[in-house]
Amino acid sequence: MAKKNKKQSINVNVRFNFMWIWAFIIIAIIGYSFFGGAPSEPVAAEWNTVAEMISKGEVERIKVINKNAAEVYLTDEAIAQYRAAEEGNRFKHIPEHGKQLTFTIGSVDILDRDVKDAVEASGIEDNPVSIEYLNETTSWGDIVMNFLPWLFLIGIWFFFIRGMMRSGGGAGGGIMNVGKARAQEFNKEDNDKRVTFKDVAGLEEAKVEIMEIVDFLRKADKYRELGAKIPKGALLVGPPGTGKTLLAKAVAGEANVPFLSISGSDFVEMFVGVGASRVRDLFEQAKQKAPCIVFIDEIDAIGRARGKNAGFSGNDERENTLNQMLTEMDGFQTNAGVIVLAATNRADILDKALMRAGRFDRQIEVGLPDVKEREEIFNVHLRHIKLDNNIDRQFLAKQTPGFSGADIANVCNEAALIAARNNKKCVEREDFMAAIDRIVGGLEKRNKTMSQAERRATAIHEAGHATVMWKLKECDPVLKVTVIPRGNSLGATWSVPDEERVHVTDAVLQDKLAGLLGGRIAEEVNYGTLGAGALSDLERATKLTYAMVAYYGMSKKIGPISFYDATGTRDTFTKPYSEQTAIAIDNEVRRILEEAYNRARQIIEQHNVEINRMADLLLEKETIFAEDIEPILGRSAQAEENEKNVNENESVTEPKSEGVTVAD
Ligand code: ADP
Ligand code: ZN
Repeated sequence: MAKKNKKQSINVNVRFNFMWIWAFIIIAIIGYSFFGGAPSEPVAAEWNTVAEMISKGEVERIKVINKNAAEVYLTDEAIAQYRAAEEGNRFKHIPEHGKQLTFTIGSVDILDRDVKDAVEASGIEDNPVSIEYLNETTSWGDIVMNFLPWLFLIGIWFFFIRGMMRSGGGAGGGIMNVGKARAQEFNKEDNDKRVTFKDVAGLEEAKVEIMEIVDFLRKADKYRELGAKIPKGALLVGPPGTGKTLLAKAVAGEANVPFLSISGSDFVEMFVGVGASRVRDLFEQAKQKAPCIVFIDEIDAIGRARGKNAGFSGNDERENTLNQMLTEMDGFQTNAGVIVLAATNRADILDKALMRAGRFDRQIEVGLPDVKEREEIFNVHLRHIKLDNNIDRQFLAKQTPGFSGADIANVCNEAALIAARNNKKCVEREDFMAAIDRIVGGLEKRNKTMSQAERRATAIHEAGHATVMWKLKECDPVLKVTVIPRGNSLGATWSVPDEERVHVTDAVLQDKLAGLLGGRIAEEVNYGTLGAGALSDLERATKLTYAMVAYYGMSKKIGPISFYDATGTRDTFTKPYSEQTAIAIDNEVRRILEEAYNRARQIIEQHNVEINRMADLLLEKETIFAEDIEPILGRSAQAEENEKNVNENESVTEPKSEGVTVAD
């Protein structure tokens, strides 16, 4: 702590001196313009005026400078006379000393002749005027003025360089240090920041695997004595926000070793060779701190498979960086005590060379949490939040299918913010619900102006979704329907699965399609018009159907074939199938969509009265729940299905879909 303060105060001093220099320059400039230039300036005149003065015998001397500028010096009497003139006279404020007028001349010869003429015309015998020719070099003031812009440029440049030096902070930054790795470092001394396994909820399998790594670091000797090679790296694979970084930090915390963290994109820089040199530097730092853990986030930024898409190159730099990484990982001794953990959400696109033995040969899956794990994550993040007594964590976990750990952390924080905004003493259940809504749907836009007719159309649309989903047993149960505008949508129908599905069948997807189309069909049936508001529904339905046909092999006509490219390296211009297949796929997509449309339309026509009743209720209440829908539509298909299953003594917990579905 004390050390840090000292460093800061030094910085302040340096900055202070620098500011003084600037202040001095600015004062000098202001001072010069105030006092250097006389308070009264020579008047810029033209030849005619000067000629007139000559004819009156008022001009004593004309000085021609560099053959183009002329300065006029008047006689003392003339000066006194002009300065005594009444206010408003053009020459009232001519300087008392030095030159009084200036004018520019065309050519020296002409001036000579003109002056002579003017003298003759004056008729004054001893007209005092004389002409001097002078080659004057620029004055000190001009020099300053010429150099001032340069001074400014240098100053600004200086500022930038200093900024860069500072922003890099200690080890990393600075223009001289582009090749240095800017790894963030957490030392074992930073106890308050220390993360342990207790902060990581769920992820049991990942923890077991990663425990081994902790063990390697702690008891390296035991393994070495037996001649075992300690692994050099492990790859944490999973969607964003699932706690990969957290897990890596926890490993460092548990093993009580330093933790160097860097993002893959930090290696990517516009300068050639920087990436490779940063990799070298990173490993250099790591070896000095060994035993330690190096964490590389988003390793896909450098680790993508090499040599594909050669035509669109510009990837040489990334390849160099990757090659350097491989070299370094091969290079350091297994007993150097450096373990490299890397995180990615696309292990499939990584270069296979990275996964070879002796590199990242261990892969640890870090998946989205299930209900049980979500409950545990809620427990971790609710530790520091003042809660209402009857908060049911299990309920919260059920409301958040498909949420990642980061989403849940976000929900907890958002709920606390909402409660604080409403001046509550503790965070209540409704705050959590509002937070979940907000995270799934975006910000409420209550003040969006909509006509009554528009609002009714939206209500009909949502009621259409809800009715189809209510009546088709493979759809997720409807949780609530709302016509409060949020984000880009005017309303939403929420459905949450009882249990998350792991196994998705074509029947499930077909029902889902019908549900997606329901909104638009309800509008069509009631108004006879097609609204453009259903764009996102249609887009989702279309994409889903293409996936069914071309990826999941769910179309009999196309057959059990998948054109999915897990490596993501196929360029987008060539399709892996023939023109005929393309046409067949399009036809199948159209057929499946039409089937779904017809099924949905049938349900909607059959229940149009109920849909209108639901729309009225929606306009009145803005948000309605399953409890409100049941009196209108009767038991939902899902509820009936569950009862039947219970009666037949079948397993009720058929796995269901990915998470909350919101149909706009
Ligand atoms: P990733 O690196 O996988 O993108 P992070 O590790 O950065 O995700 O997670 C972001 C935040 O989400 C963490 O700081 C933590 O607050 C929260 N989080 C994620 N997963 C968990 C978990 N399993 N247990 C507790 N908190 C979690
Ligand atoms: Zn819709």
